[in-house]
Amino acid sequence: MPLYIQRDVNEVEAVLNEILNTHSPPVARCRLLSSGFNPGHTLNITEDIGGHKECLACGNCIDACPILAREPSRRERTEQRTSMALETLVGEDCDRCQACALACPQVDTTIKQYIVNRRIVEVMSRLDARIGDDRDLDLDLFVEEAIA
Ligand code: SF4
Ligand code: SF4
Repeated sequence: MPLYIQRDVNEVEAVLNEILNTHSPPVARCRLLSSGFNPGHTLNITEDIGGHKECLACGNCIDACPILAREPSRRERTEQRTSMALETLVGEDCDRCQACALACPQVDTTIKQYIVNRRIVEVMSRLDARIGDDRDLDLDLFVEEAIA
């Protein structure tokens, strides 16, 4: 739901890379770097919330996170579906897959495109290097299914 005129990634590339390199869910910080609500997409309320950058509690980031998919018992700690909940449930175990930032309706398209164009290859090669690792059996299953 971001504004039409969105964040110019060139202005924030250094801090964005710092966020994407950190072992912590990036979605909330990416949201704060973004342009906020587009007034044309606001809910049916009288308050002008154009440009606001709050979490909508839509839960998209929670649903997209592979750590929570792999370890659903983590979800038992809270029923909240916010970026704050993601921070609590995943924290420093974050895999830096960037899926949460890509799934968030409050993150600018410009930031998502930067992630897709400049960071996803690195994410995939990191995952590729972990195939065969006993701690990532789900990756092995994925590969086995792909070649079956
Ligand atoms: S979706 Fe990926 S980047 Fe986001 S918190 Fe989960 S592991 Fe980390
Ligand atoms: S995906 Fe939804 S729940 Fe997660 S940070 Fe964005 S607005 Fe909040």
